[in-house]
Amino acid sequence: MKHLRAVNKYFWKYKWRLLLGLLFVVLSNYFRILSPQVTGYVVNSVEQELVRESRATDPHPVSSKPERRIIRNQKSDTANYDILVRKFIRQLNSTGQGFGTKVAISGITLLILAMIGGAFMFLMRQTIIVMSRHIEFDQKNEIFRHYQLLDTSFYRSHSTGDLMSRMAEDVSRVRMYTGPAIMYLGNLLATIGFSLYFMIRKDALLTLYVLAPLPVLAVTIYMVNNIIHKRSERIQALLSNLTTNAQESYSGIRVIKSFVQERAMIRFFTRNSEEYRKNAINLAKVEAVYFPSMGLIIGLSTLLTIMLGGFYVIRGTHHTDLGTITEFIIYITMLTFPVSAIGWVASMFQRASASQKRLNEFLETVPTIQNPLHALNQHLSGNISFEKVDFIYPNTGIHAIRNFSLKIRKGEKIAVIGKTGSGKTTLAQLLLRFYDPTQGVVRMDGQDIKTLDIRNLRSQIGYVPQDVFLFSDTVTGNILFSSDQKTEPAARKAAGFASVDQEVLQFSSGFDTLIGERGVTLSGGQKQRISIARALSRDHGIVIFDDCLSAVDSRTEKEIINRLYAYLQHKTALIITHRIFALFEFDRIIVLDNGSIIETGTHTELLAMNGYYAHLYEQQQQTGEEAQTRD
Ligand code: ADP
Repeated sequence: MKHLRAVNKYFWKYKWRLLLGLLFVVLSNYFRILSPQVTGYVVNSVEQELVRESRATDPHPVSSKPERRIIRNQKSDTANYDILVRKFIRQLNSTGQGFGTKVAISGITLLILAMIGGAFMFLMRQTIIVMSRHIEFDQKNEIFRHYQLLDTSFYRSHSTGDLMSRMAEDVSRVRMYTGPAIMYLGNLLATIGFSLYFMIRKDALLTLYVLAPLPVLAVTIYMVNNIIHKRSERIQALLSNLTTNAQESYSGIRVIKSFVQERAMIRFFTRNSEEYRKNAINLAKVEAVYFPSMGLIIGLSTLLTIMLGGFYVIRGTHHTDLGTITEFIIYITMLTFPVSAIGWVASMFQRASASQKRLNEFLETVPTIQNPLHALNQHLSGNISFEKVDFIYPNTGIHAIRNFSLKIRKGEKIAVIGKTGSGKTTLAQLLLRFYDPTQGVVRMDGQDIKTLDIRNLRSQIGYVPQDVFLFSDTVTGNILFSSDQKTEPAARKAAGFASVDQEVLQFSSGFDTLIGERGVTLSGGQKQRISIARALSRDHGIVIFDDCLSAVDSRTEKEIINRLYAYLQHKTALIITHRIFALFEFDRIIVLDNGSIIETGTHTELLAMNGYYAHLYEQQQQTGEEAQTRD
């Protein structure tokens, strides 16, 4: 339960709403608890009226035991009622109305009491449940804000499904605690408190007997609830399997069809959904037992009330009358829901606590990349230097960069070439401070980048990541992702630099066309170029392209490179690639292998060295020629 303490700050924030809600809980219960007493009074009045009438017809009756009891109790039977009920009875008796009118007024009073109780119940829901929705909103925002702060290494170690379920399921379970559970707890305490108070005042021994089965009910419901919960969890897991299964079969439909695996997929799906069906039927069975067993235990309490109460009435002991029996039966009915809710509320608390524990673990995760205390905000001119940088990935222990030193002057265009896994992307990530070097320093304009404000640093670098990601938004929205003003001319200009403008104009709605998961299907090359346009949409002084032309054909590649010349004129550019762009005149080409520089120079110098670069170039020329002969 201690995990739920983290939610207290929200209760504090909405304290007035909570207090008001709890006040409504008490008021609603107070007005509801008056009806059994009014009903009891009516029953007793009827009984007394019958005795009176029989006396009127027979002036010399042989007084029976119950009759004597009725007469004896006439004075005392209202003494244990609530003050409001007593006032009402006094008022009613003083008006001198006929018996029929009195009963009718009592009936209307019962209706009014039910309406007042109902109105307070409405207000109670309006305050407590609404408060829980506010808390849910705040908590979701808190979690999302924290997600945004956490760095890339956190995302590497947590699956998207896990992150999503915290935002959705865990938060909604905590909401069950801050809303319904608190409300039902307040409600059950108030109902049990009021009923017990009036029942014990009336007849303590009878109360003890008739309420004896209720704890059994609470424990049974708690246990059954746990079984239901476990089975529901299993069903939930099966359902999510089934959804993933269906989702993959839609997105991978081309692979399935080309490998003629439709039948195998259907069999797989049927097997999974059969498992789901079995579990769901099992759950339905447990649920079917739930309500009848509740009815049985409640029925037992009612039976005991009538039996013992009746016994007392006949014997004329315990000051018990028919009104008391009626009153008790109504109390028991009123107690049914709160008592059964004990188990329910307890399991809601348990589940919320487990969910909040998961949320706390996540909220207490501190980003490894922190903004420095006195962060520098400065304009970066584009001088970059890596000084004896070593980097080991913390999660895998892979030594990706080894003793790497490189000075890049403002305005230089540098190509970084190397095999897959040689550490090229890692260099880009170190520059953007997605990770900090294990050893050595990365500097910008002579400043260790750890001293710079992270937002200031990243906002001055145009980065095109290797894996393209487009949002479900328009082309303009995607290109001008980081700009506040999303105007088409600005998007068109950036698209022009990336040589994708003409193609976008041919889409049905041009730059307003929706792309991403919900939008038109783009080719790999188009996606890459829109992603490039996004990086070029702002006038960054430093630009990093991470192997972002791999899906572009050689003709488009030439076109992009020509246009990039114009864009990159006064900028520092780091172009990471596994392919040689012979056409682009780089100031320097760095050849990377196993995290270290193995060759460096211009295209001509590297060819003359006749090393790795020359070999790669030769290979590329051959495959290029082969491709041309094929064409
Ligand atoms: P390149 O860009 O040249 O293909 P990378 O910089 O992506 O190379 O990777 C360098 C090495 O670091 C590889 O061995 C790769 O497996 C490893 N690596 C890359 N990213 C991660 C990561 N997030 N966590 C752990 N290891 C990684």
